[in-house]
Amino acid sequence: MRNSFIAGNWKMHKTPAESKALAAELVKGLSGCRHRLLVAPSFTALEAVASVVKGTNILLGAQNMAAEEEGAHTGETSVLMLKAIGVEAVILGHSERRHVYGETDDMINKKVKLALKHGLEVILCVGETLDEREAGNAETVVKNQTEAGLAGVSEAELAKVTIAYEPVWAIGTGKTATPEDADQIHKVTRAKISSLYSPAAAEKIIIQYGGSVKPDNAAQLMGMENIDGALVGGASLKAELFLPIAEYDK
Ligand code: PEP
Repeated sequence: MRNSFIAGNWKMHKTPAESKALAAELVKGLSGCRHRLLVAPSFTALEAVASVVKGTNILLGAQNMAAEEEGAHTGETSVLMLKAIGVEAVILGHSERRHVYGETDDMINKKVKLALKHGLEVILCVGETLDEREAGNAETVVKNQTEAGLAGVSEAELAKVTIAYEPVWAIGTGKTATPEDADQIHKVTRAKISSLYSPAAAEKIIIQYGGSVKPDNAAQLMGMENIDGALVGGASLKAELFLPIAEYDK
């Protein structure tokens, strides 16, 4: 039985003070939550949020990191810097990084391996665009992104990887994949993990769904056999929306 994992991606929202206040509301509201939890504030708010979530049941995640440990990379943030302030996980390959900032599968794979080398957990995002879905290529795109993102990752390291299936057309648009459509992609992604690693690894891996998850669709999505949690954007910015998602009941 896989333990559900609910993560909030705060994107480029909230000052450190606002982030700290939201984190404090979540710590209070979710102290008895049965699911695994993570919040990913912006870089400038990580330290402030670290001071609030440290020692609680909420993990601290970053939204991205550099593909190199250090050096002449103006504007980038290193895995070493993230670890030094208490970050435990990193979201990599988010569709905004892929499609707005031009991150390639190779770049994302480099980051995945670097994060794992330094002991960070990884949430690897995959997902097709609307054009790719309409052309009938959704499954192929997701399988390819999964394989490329995990190239060179061992089965032992895979224990620290969560996959987030986020159809690009459903992110921040209010459109959600039907639970059945999402579950189908999760199923083929799990099968891909089985062929790349082993049936046992496929059975264990957590595959989150992301794309306009809200309190009123969370339970239905997470009730599907292959959906093991959610990566939540917009609805993670308000405690009154994130709390019921995190505490959904199948
Ligand atoms: C996301 O950014 O990962 C996301 C799923 O956003 P939203 O929930 O707003 O669609």
